[in-house]
Amino acid sequence: MIVSMKRGASREEIDHVCRRIEQFGYRVHSINGAERVVIGAVGRGDLTQAIEQLESAAGVETVVPISQPFKLVSREIQPARSVIRVNGCRIGGGDFTVIAGPCSVESEEQILATAHAVQAAGGRILRGGAFKPRTSPYDFQGLEVEGLRLLRKAKECTGLAIITEVISDSDLEMVAEYADIIQVGARNMQNYALLKAAGRLDKPVMLKRGFASTMKELLLSAEYIASTGNQRVILCERGIRTFETYTRNTLDLAAVPALQELTHLPVLVDPSHGTGRRSLIPAMARAAVACGADGLMIEVHPCPENAVSDGPQSLDLEGFARMMRELEPYIALWKQQREAENASAADAACRQ
Ligand code: PEP
Ligand code: MN
Repeated sequence: MIVSMKRGASREEIDHVCRRIEQFGYRVHSINGAERVVIGAVGRGDLTQAIEQLESAAGVETVVPISQPFKLVSREIQPARSVIRVNGCRIGGGDFTVIAGPCSVESEEQILATAHAVQAAGGRILRGGAFKPRTSPYDFQGLEVEGLRLLRKAKECTGLAIITEVISDSDLEMVAEYADIIQVGARNMQNYALLKAAGRLDKPVMLKRGFASTMKELLLSAEYIASTGNQRVILCERGIRTFETYTRNTLDLAAVPALQELTHLPVLVDPSHGTGRRSLIPAMARAAVACGADGLMIEVHPCPENAVSDGPQSLDLEGFARMMRELEPYIALWKQQREAENASAADAACRQ
């Protein structure tokens, strides 16, 4: 439920309401709005009784239940977009964020060449898998810790932030020492032990949609991370499995505005896994900007033909630079739209 305090409610009144919420069996997630304190309460308790009694507590303006099953990540509890700051980049805010890099970290030469090219073309965050969740146990499984060291070196050389995937909760703390953002991949979207462990981290987490998962399931997985204590979650649409076989997955771009109606979390798009085909990536990247995504994740490799994983869906360095140049007018429009949206939200807050 969402408890909105009256404007000017005292600290004692707020503390009292928080204690009462806990007595009803809920956990308090206090959100201090600019105008008034809004307290989010989640958990399992006697909702009807809690609402009735909290409504009559001193300093309370309204108490409303949250209708969605996902609570902390819902737009109901927080209408304004979440902005996740990473290395000077405002993901979900006024920056369109491009994450790029190879599917797998393969060698120092490969990751450094890619990192320099990503940075020169305007990418802000370097991706690279060190622990790879491969469908076949005979496929390359990643360089593991050596891959993490190479990512760190690429960060030192370029200043790019690092995102890398973690596939087991036992590796999480170690990976978090190297990564600025932890990636939970499609195959692990419903690995609840991993989600809870990611919820205990003080690091942003990018959660990819499972290829057979609904938006509601994705949001409930994000809720696992948020309700364990980590609100810095970024969602990523990376395509779902359909009857189509020409593309590797079907990139569900309608999920972008749909998720943004339901959640305040940023939503990125990965057209590389979403299509599986290099030729389709620039067009789907433009479409992702146009439908209001908060950013992109793109696979890039200096020589896709030699890539140990996902070569057919990787852009080469020049292809990535070209795509970034072609995106510029679209991103300029995107920024205008975000600014207009922020200005009208500020107007509405003033009128309240
Ligand atoms: C990846 O980003 O390298 C990856 C494995 O993606 P997904 O989890 O979306 O398949
Ligand atoms: Mn990949």
